[in-house]
Amino acid sequence: MASQIFNFGAGPAMLPQPVMERIQKEFLNFNDMGVGLIEISHRSKQFGEVLEKAKALFRELSGVPDNYKILFLHGGARMQFSALPLNLLARKQPRRAYYYETGNFSKLAFKDAQRYGDVRVLSSSVSTDFDRIPDFNLDELDEDASYVHLTSNNTIYGTRWNSFPDTGDVPLITDQTSDILSRQMDYSKFGMVYAGLQKNLGPSGMAIVVIREDLLGHAIPTTPVLMDYSVCAKDNSLTNTTNTFAIYTTMLVLEWLKEQGGVAAIEQRNNEKAGLIYELIDRTPFYSSVAQPAHRSMMNVTFTLPSEEMTDKFLKEAGAAGLYALKGHRNLGGVRASIYNPMPKEGVLSLTSFMEEFERKNG
Ligand SMILES: *Cc1c(COP(=O)(O)O)cnc(C)c1O
Repeated sequence: MASQIFNFGAGPAMLPQPVMERIQKEFLNFNDMGVGLIEISHRSKQFGEVLEKAKALFRELSGVPDNYKILFLHGGARMQFSALPLNLLARKQPRRAYYYETGNFSKLAFKDAQRYGDVRVLSSSVSTDFDRIPDFNLDELDEDASYVHLTSNNTIYGTRWNSFPDTGDVPLITDQTSDILSRQMDYSKFGMVYAGLQKNLGPSGMAIVVIREDLLGHAIPTTPVLMDYSVCAKDNSLTNTTNTFAIYTTMLVLEWLKEQGGVAAIEQRNNEKAGLIYELIDRTPFYSSVAQPAHRSMMNVTFTLPSEEMTDKFLKEAGAAGLYALKGHRNLGGVRASIYNPMPKEGVLSLTSFMEEFERKNG
């Protein structure tokens, strides 16, 4: 094993070292109770404080306005691909929604929603293999649509939206699973934001949903109770036994983020980190960027090498040098470095020195 490991996995992804250590320290004895947090009731006073703190920290760090509810739901981001149309499509007749198609997850979200109504693609970058964000194409948007959906950061292709379409009175919904709290955003522009926890916030299997209050109360009657956002909001995310460990971990990650100086400070660090890799890629034809420069993600940096054999060699040697999980998504191949909030700059510097050395030996 290499002396120090850096985990570039896309998700579940690395968490901040101090958070992991704190969990380890408190695991058997939470708050001097003599028992672990995962052993106590989700309705206990002690867990209630954890939940309220997680919500308050999220609100403070994101700047999300007061007329939005913050919910924790089961089933990760993918469950919201169905919960979203079930909750919002029937707001207006004829149950119409528009999706931007910018990669794998946006396609899945579209496909899942199609089961429930008249769901259309507003614009797509499929013809250029998702190497960019497409035109807004707002001319085609019907003002009576129930919502518009987009994926703010495309985890597999390594692209992101730098500015968002103004959809007027039609609520804009964003899947921010791979870039939530990694950059500053004006939440008042969105009707709803959701994210699986496992990339920037905590463990897998749960999602955070931030929804404007006036969008609650329109669920299709057959919506499963545990997927109904109004029920979840009324019960403060405690309709059934929630994943207390995931919410506790998220609270600790949010505390850590606040200590780092909050979203503005982490955004600057994220830009620096990604910039180091993109600069290297742009300096040499040995590495080629997958994403168009104007649409590059600061969270998932994707690139290719001259051949598949060379890619395999790169991944093997990187692994041996302690640089883990750099293999691109199975749909795309190549290399992907996921560098979410917790990835320290030293991890990125290890990667760029490895890349330089690898090119020197093999280029
Ligand atoms: C990882 C990811 C998902 C899937 O998340 P699950 O929690 O596994 O359902 C959805 N959307 C985006 C943008 C992602 O990066």
